[in-house]
Amino acid sequence: MGEEQKEKLFAKREEGWKHVDEKQKQEIMKVSDEYMAFLNKAKTEREFIKTAKKLADDNGYTDIINKKELKPGDKIYFINREKSMYLAVIGENSIEENGMHIIGSHVDSPRLDLKPNPLCEEGGLAYFKTHYYGGIKKYQWTTIPLSLHGVIVKTNGEKVEINIGESETDPIFTITDLLPHLAQEQMEKKLKEGIEGENLKLLIGSIPFNDDKVQEKVKLNILNILNEKYGITEADFMSAELELVPAFRARSLGFDESMVAGYGQDDKVCAYTSLRAMMNLQKVKNTAICILSDKEEIGSMGNTGMESHMFDFFVSEILNKLGINKPNLLDRIFCLSKMLSSDVDAGYDPIYASVSDTLNAGYLGKGITLNKYTGSRGKSGASDANAEYVAWVRNVLEKNNIKYQITELGKVDLGGGGTIAYILANKGADVIDCGVPVLSMHAPYEVTSKYDIYSAYKTYEAFWEE
Ligand code: MN
Ligand code: MN
Repeated sequence: MGEEQKEKLFAKREEGWKHVDEKQKQEIMKVSDEYMAFLNKAKTEREFIKTAKKLADDNGYTDIINKKELKPGDKIYFINREKSMYLAVIGENSIEENGMHIIGSHVDSPRLDLKPNPLCEEGGLAYFKTHYYGGIKKYQWTTIPLSLHGVIVKTNGEKVEINIGESETDPIFTITDLLPHLAQEQMEKKLKEGIEGENLKLLIGSIPFNDDKVQEKVKLNILNILNEKYGITEADFMSAELELVPAFRARSLGFDESMVAGYGQDDKVCAYTSLRAMMNLQKVKNTAICILSDKEEIGSMGNTGMESHMFDFFVSEILNKLGINKPNLLDRIFCLSKMLSSDVDAGYDPIYASVSDTLNAGYLGKGITLNKYTGSRGKSGASDANAEYVAWVRNVLEKNNIKYQITELGKVDLGGGGTIAYILANKGADVIDCGVPVLSMHAPYEVTSKYDIYSAYKTYEAFWEE
């Protein structure tokens, strides 16, 4: 009697794997294998967009610039300065009456950027100086293999693409740390002060240039190598964007291979699953939009961040090419739109259980997480999703048999975070955060569950097909 009532009345949050049969398991593993292969090719925002463009081109998408007019069923994209991208499938329904179904993630991840004047020599060793990008625990970035990615642009406009440290035959780079034997003072410091930002210096060489008369011989030898290989001089670093990321590959984790370990899963796990889901779409009722944004980790500012007007420009171009644009139509369409802000969530970590409210935490392997609000300490800065919209999203998930959990990021007074949700909410769209729970978020090696990756993929597909 009590058990029956309990079954009927209690909210359920079940282990996803429990309900997976052999065929589904193979499908889950296949999606994760393709995800890991994509991650290994797309460690930076520029590489992600380049790889995404190829996938879109292969699936019948066209740059909106090449289209004079648009009609339902058309598949288009717009690439913003090689670092962010918006894709769309034009819906059968009137965009003016129904708005858009938007899924938005970000493709930048925490990392170390080279300073504009990076190269120096100290004690017979050559270094690149760095400035970290996004919220990192600095000690995690020492003594691991790092690879160098990005572009160097010369004053004549020539762009040199750099990717060193990913191939087995490439060298890698690293940041050294103090040996324990001499670390007595360092070990007494607070964890956040143990490694100083200015000491995140990348070791890049040690052979001196063969001429006793010159100073800074090791630095000169490095520049000589770079000049021979890329035709650059030291000044060209001023117009470069070079990023250091972990040189590890994404791998299956655990004896049961149930998880993925990889760099940059915040937020490439949501970016990849939404992009991949979009490739499945044929005819959709409502215009489907996929946003792959940049600069989320440093506040979404700048012309490739979500705060810029570039996305408005893209939607306006769609309205122009549909031949329906008129004053205030863009505002109207945003107000009618629905959005999933697809960003990762803090996974419940039993080792650090004390930071989570166990009733409102996101568990690995229990499906996609919905965050009604993010923000911190009194929901500050959050775009709290309306109950009506949360109910609408729950309905979509439940009728598609997708497991989900509704969560908060940690205990009330402890901290918090944000995503791009508020930006579209401020334009008038209904928005909820919806993503994959992650362990060791923002670390060089982050962990997700393959079950949740698959849930995200299914969620995004269902949302667009609604
Ligand atoms: Mn994120
Ligand atoms: Mn993040």
